[in-house]
Amino acid sequence: MKTYLELANKLIENQVKNWKLAQKNYADLSKIQVKEISFGKFTIKIQFNPARIVSSSAKVDKQSIEKRACFLCVENRPIEQESIAILNQYFLLINPFPIFPKHLTIVSTQHIDQQIKNNIESMLQLSLMLEGFTIFYNGPKSGASAPDHFHFQAGNTGFMPLDNELKYLIKDFGSLIIENETNIWAVEDGLRKMIVFEGQNAIEIANNFNFAYKILQEVMSNGEEPPMNLLCNYQKGRFSMVLFLRGAHRPWQYFAEGEQNILLSPASVDFGGTLITPLEKDFNKLNKEVIIDIFRQTSVKGEVFRDIINKIKQLK
Ligand SMILES: [Zn+2]
Repeated sequence: MKTYLELANKLIENQVKNWKLAQKNYADLSKIQVKEISFGKFTIKIQFNPARIVSSSAKVDKQSIEKRACFLCVENRPIEQESIAILNQYFLLINPFPIFPKHLTIVSTQHIDQQIKNNIESMLQLSLMLEGFTIFYNGPKSGASAPDHFHFQAGNTGFMPLDNELKYLIKDFGSLIIENETNIWAVEDGLRKMIVFEGQNAIEIANNFNFAYKILQEVMSNGEEPPMNLLCNYQKGRFSMVLFLRGAHRPWQYFAEGEQNILLSPASVDFGGTLITPLEKDFNKLNKEVIIDIFRQTSVKGEVFRDIINKIKQLK
């Protein structure tokens, strides 16, 4: 019996060999330009990735979504795209427009809305079954390009700078808000506002996430899903889950005309420290000052973040 990790790796290998579109886009990935900007204690990588234009410029308003055929539903997926059933409710697919050298999309078998509630335990289980991948989730208003069809994505761990930096960021910018079987940290590194859940027990982490979720919902979103991105991986016997609390879906530069326009629609991978830009003009334009400005707009406000952290402390 092969493990799911072996099956996933084999799927990627086969698809890159046999599916022309995947072959071209994965080959191109190794040639694209990347630049790095140091923020002292952490790094932001910028990837100039023309194939991502479809995702970066996706229209995700209700009308546009209703008008298009869903590209994650089995009947609309390309004939060449193979799948592996997992956990009785998802399919593993290769992402044919990669950011990572190994990039999976993990889609619900059913056409149901993007929402993390009731899927958080699966996220933890997937990270355990696919150790070596970081599983990520983009909220329906925080970067998902198919908000009408539930999906995660996964990329090889270590590719996003945050995968390796998290333990140092916790030390330098974190405060431990709950110390228990699951440790919960609040981290503000000057760019991002994160809540980090860390421990050995998936059920415990899911319970703690659900507890925090309720508070977020009260403070941020009036009963809707709080705007968020999530990363989760399993390394050396421990899970770590990073919850980025979001502000604006897209920065003002995204909608600006002419010179000021920057086509950057931040989601999990950007918050993980790898900014994706499909246009060369933006690749050249992105510097420290612009990045700080974009993250300021697309992250939750500092006072709201601290209010949430206090409530978690008090109520737990
Ligand atoms: Zn669908």
